[in-house]
Amino acid sequence: MMVLEEKDILKQKLKEVFGYAQFRGNQETIIQNLIDGRNTFVIMPTGAGKSLCYQLPALIQEGLAIVISPLIALMKNQVDQLNAYGVNARFLNSTLSKAEITKLKKDCANDEVRLLYVAPESLTKEENIQFLQKIKISFVAIDEAHCISEWGHDFRPEYRKIKTMIGQLGNLPVIALTATATPKVQIDIQKNLQMEEADVFMSSFNRKNLYYEVRPKKETKKQLIKFLRDHKGKSGIIYCLSRKKVEEIAQLLNVNGFKAAPYHAGLDPDVREKNQDDFLNEEVDIICATIAFGMGIDKPDVRFVVHYDVPKSLEGYYQETGRSGRDGLEGICLMFYSHNDLNKLEKFNKDKTVQERENARVLLQEMEYYAESPVCRRRQLLHYFGEEYDQDNCGMCDNCVHPRERFDGTDAVKLVLQAAKQTNERFTLNHLVNVIRGVEDEYVKSYGHFDLDIYGKGGDEEADYWKSVIRQTLIYQFLEKDIENIGVLKVTKRGEEFLKKPYSIELAKDHDFTTDIEDEEVSSEKAPVNAKSYDEKLFEMLKTLRKKVAKDKDLPPYVIFQDPSLEEMATTYPTTKDELAQVNGVGMGKVNKFGKEFLELIEKYVEENDIETASEVIVKTSVNKSKAKVQIITQIDRKIDLDEIADSIKMTFEEVLTEIENICYSGTRLNLNYYIDQVVDKHKQDDIHDYFMNAETDSLDAALNDDSLADYSEEDIRLMRIKFLSEYGN
Ligand code: ADP
Ligand code: ZN
Repeated sequence: MMVLEEKDILKQKLKEVFGYAQFRGNQETIIQNLIDGRNTFVIMPTGAGKSLCYQLPALIQEGLAIVISPLIALMKNQVDQLNAYGVNARFLNSTLSKAEITKLKKDCANDEVRLLYVAPESLTKEENIQFLQKIKISFVAIDEAHCISEWGHDFRPEYRKIKTMIGQLGNLPVIALTATATPKVQIDIQKNLQMEEADVFMSSFNRKNLYYEVRPKKETKKQLIKFLRDHKGKSGIIYCLSRKKVEEIAQLLNVNGFKAAPYHAGLDPDVREKNQDDFLNEEVDIICATIAFGMGIDKPDVRFVVHYDVPKSLEGYYQETGRSGRDGLEGICLMFYSHNDLNKLEKFNKDKTVQERENARVLLQEMEYYAESPVCRRRQLLHYFGEEYDQDNCGMCDNCVHPRERFDGTDAVKLVLQAAKQTNERFTLNHLVNVIRGVEDEYVKSYGHFDLDIYGKGGDEEADYWKSVIRQTLIYQFLEKDIENIGVLKVTKRGEEFLKKPYSIELAKDHDFTTDIEDEEVSSEKAPVNAKSYDEKLFEMLKTLRKKVAKDKDLPPYVIFQDPSLEEMATTYPTTKDELAQVNGVGMGKVNKFGKEFLELIEKYVEENDIETASEVIVKTSVNKSKAKVQIITQIDRKIDLDEIADSIKMTFEEVLTEIENICYSGTRLNLNYYIDQVVDKHKQDDIHDYFMNAETDSLDAALNDDSLADYSEEDIRLMRIKFLSEYGN
């Protein structure tokens, strides 16, 4: 008899039930940890795949897995998704009838149910506890665990009783999961669940597929419509600050031919629910909403999140933008920014206590810094959540794709660090700016800081200039915020080393949102669009079919198959059940439930269009490739040496050259002169150039085999050919 290793069993189940070939990130370690009976605490950003961490063990472990989840809507959604995979999952909450509850309890007692979703309220009911005490339970999962903490942004008092309730069920392993990760909340959760000893798994918060962009709030409606036209037919969320604005924008969009619906707390509950369902079921493409919308919305194919108004905090912004691109495909996050919005938000706080007002002000200020900063958006967001991202160019934010003007910041950084040191690292940004600029306000006077060496050394630069320099030194970690004293800045080890042995540092200029910018110029900025590598026509047909099947079965379309699966079908053209089961995210359960009509459609399409189906086509590389492309193009724009580019994107020099050749062939001009002039002699350049001018073909093979070029290296020839193609071919 063959015995499968436990590891293999996990993988096998992953493929068989969920249709995925690989675990993502640390899913596998987390699952193993839980199976080993350890308490487990998972902090993972939205869309990274938390659910699988308890869903898969529930299928392997003996007994029923209990999942505590705060929202009834979310519960139903997850149960629907699991049922689509052929997993017997159910929920227990106040929406069930007596008869349904009786049936549910019977099925649980017969060990037919793998996962039971419950609301914390239901767990407080004595009859439910008594019933669960009689059943074998494998473990308890606590989803959205940040609801336990009063420091989090979504506190729910009943969550604080969870530990007591679980205790009544016996000594069970617990897995707690959340996407909100400030250290304070984390400690609070662990304390409350009495699982300080739990193994903590924290994933990177980097959402690689999200594109971040901030635009000035000018002619915003026009800009918005243009943006939406470029993304017509795709799912998206537009967040507005007020209910009035939500209504206004939804109407504007409908008038302009988009399918949009409003969502806010002031709507009749029936209308609100219908609008949300219409969005999930793709009856409308765009939902205009206040931030009341979103928590518990698991729609994986939201392609853009627009902030029409400035959000109140970076935490909120990160959560809201995080709802785009959960499936790993395109997700564009666009914010319209104006100072005026900040003032409005500040006014909302006027009835709060002094402390609350001050906290809210600090959060708003972070928002302002983020919007105006020239630094990579991704780097800033990750920095905010305590994670360092040290790539030069992420290629997926406005500041990286259209870099801001740069300047030599070596001396400025030196001055800032000296100012912090000479004031004994006990002061805030504003005070340091005053000291550097020689502004004698009351603090400077009372501390006698006008006597310092550094006082007034800042020359004629404006306060904004110095603020921007200081914020950049923070993000580049020469300075750090003191944890105990809000606002106080201290010099880091990196800063100390720099002071001892300064090296040259480039900084960039902030965005200036005060001057008028030509509307045309602004709205022509576009997120890089991934080249489509799949059959778009078939993809659209599959989507239409999915919608029909979803309607018949009364499920949201993405429960049937998700977009990445449809894209893969439109690439590999599966025509048998086995082939379809190979598609990522499908699995045999779904093939049997929904596969038939899809196979028929593909079969017919393949026949009519004479398509050769390759059963072993390798997919999944296109997204990464196109991302590499964007990075290559942006780095060449910045005149970075090709070997450095190769290093930064972990490709060989050869591969980069090949990519560049592809880019040229697809019609993009690249100016490589800065590099070629360094590595190829002028007379060699002329010779190779002459060859291509006179040759009958631009074929590389022909050039490599031509006698007149026998003395030149392949690299030289390829570089010159790219130059030639760029100058004459495009
Ligand atoms: P979270 O709860 O962390 O926001 P989900 O559990 O909803 O994320 O998962 C996000 C998406 O990732 C879902 O569409 C899910 O099907 C997909 N996913 C999860 N695990 C994997 C995996 N190992 N391989 C491919 N896709 C996965
Ligand atoms: Zn960036």
